[in-house]
Amino acid sequence: MTAKILDGKKTASQIRQGLKEEIAKLQKKPSLKVILIGDNPSSLIYVKNKNKYASEVGIKSEVIHLPPSITENKLIEQINKLNNDKNVNGILVQLPLPKHINEFNVINSISPEKDVDGFTIQNKGLLSIGTPQLLPCTPYGIMELLKRYKIKVAGKHAVVIGRSNIVGKPMAQLLLNNDATITICHSKTRNLKNITKTADILISAVGKQNLIKGNFIKPGAIVIDVAMIRDEKNKKWSGDTDFKAISKKAKYITPVPGGIGPMTVAMLLKNTLTAYKLQNKC
Ligand code: NAP
Repeated sequence: MTAKILDGKKTASQIRQGLKEEIAKLQKKPSLKVILIGDNPSSLIYVKNKNKYASEVGIKSEVIHLPPSITENKLIEQINKLNNDKNVNGILVQLPLPKHINEFNVINSISPEKDVDGFTIQNKGLLSIGTPQLLPCTPYGIMELLKRYKIKVAGKHAVVIGRSNIVGKPMAQLLLNNDATITICHSKTRNLKNITKTADILISAVGKQNLIKGNFIKPGAIVIDVAMIRDEKNKKWSGDTDFKAISKKAKYITPVPGGIGPMTVAMLLKNTLTAYKLQNKC
C-alpha cells in the first residue's frame, strides 16, 4: 500500500480562495492585529506568513512588533486598547512569550470574541461543552482537512500524542465532539508503540524527529503529523513521523511541510471572518 497524501497546502489554498470571495462581498473588511514580542526566528516566519495570507484574502492585517523588554502590564494595556477598538475584529499574540511575562494572564486578557487563536479559557470552555465559538487553529485545521478528504471520524479510534493546551487537548476534545473514541498519549505514556498500533487515526503533536516509525502504525491508518521541527543549518522542516516507512503502511498521511502548517494559517483567517460576523451579528 502507498499512502495518499493529505495535501494541506492545496486544501488551504482552496479555503483561502473561498474566504477571499466571501470577504470581497463585505462592505467593511475584517481586521486582524498580530502582536509579536521579540525576535524569535520561528515566530518571525509564522507572523510573516499569517500577515501575508491575511492580506491576500482581503483581511486588514497589521503586525504590532514590541520589544522583548515590554512588561506584562504594558502588554495587557495594549491588548485592552485593541479589545475596545470597534475597528479591530481579531487579536492574536504570537507565542512563546518572554519568560518574565505570564502567558495565561496575557491570553486571557484578549476579549473572547476577538480571540482568533481560540486560546482563552472562555473559548476552551465552550469547546469542552461541545458549543465552540472560536476554535484553536491547528486542531480546527486538522478536522477541516479530514472533512475535505471525506474521512469520517465517528466510531474510529483516534490516538493523539501530545497534551498541550494549544494542540493535543483541543484536538482530542474536537475528535470526541465528533464521536471518535480517544486515547491521549504523552511523555509518561508506557509502550507508546502498542497504543499507536491500535489507532485508526493517529495524530502526533510532539516535536521529536522520527518518534513515530513504520512499525508504530496499523496498516490502513490515517496519520497526521503536526510537528514542525526546524533544522536551521539546512533550512529544512521535519515532523515526528518517519514519512517514508509510514507511507508504505498508512492509507493517508500528511507531509511536513505542506500538511498541517498551511491549514493552521487558513483557519486563523477563517476565525477572523467568524469573529467579524460574531461582532457584526451577520
Ligand atoms: P508542547 O507543548 O511541547 O507539547 C508536546 C507534547 O508532547 C507534550 O504533551 C509532551 O508530553 C509530549 N511528549 C514529549 N515527548 C514525548 C514522547 N517521547 N512520547 C509521547 N509524548 C511526548 O508542543 P505543542 O505546542 O503541542 O507542539 C507540538 C509540535 O507541533 C511542535 O513540533 C510544534 O512546533 C508543532 N506545532 C505545529 C503547528 C502547525 O501549525 N503545524 C502548530 C502548533 C504546534 P508531556 O505533557 O508529558 O510533557
